[in-house]
Amino acid sequence: MAVPKKKTSKSRRNMRRAHDALKAVGHQECSNCGEVKLPHHVCGSCGHYDGREVVSQAQEVAA
Ligand SMILES: [Zn+2]
Repeated sequence: MAVPKKKTSKSRRNMRRAHDALKAVGHQECSNCGEVKLPHHVCGSCGHYDGREVVSQAQEVAA
């Protein structure tokens, strides 16, 4: 097994982790009902996507 020759300093370790922060999840308002939804996802509240209904309301209630 490969073994590191030198201990990683706190500075090095923290520099490596400088890009690890989580970013906020993107969101946009549904063009049909105005509810906040994820981009490129069917609206969870009205079942619309790209201007048309792709999931019926009855199915949403059952699911
Ligand atoms: Zn909607």
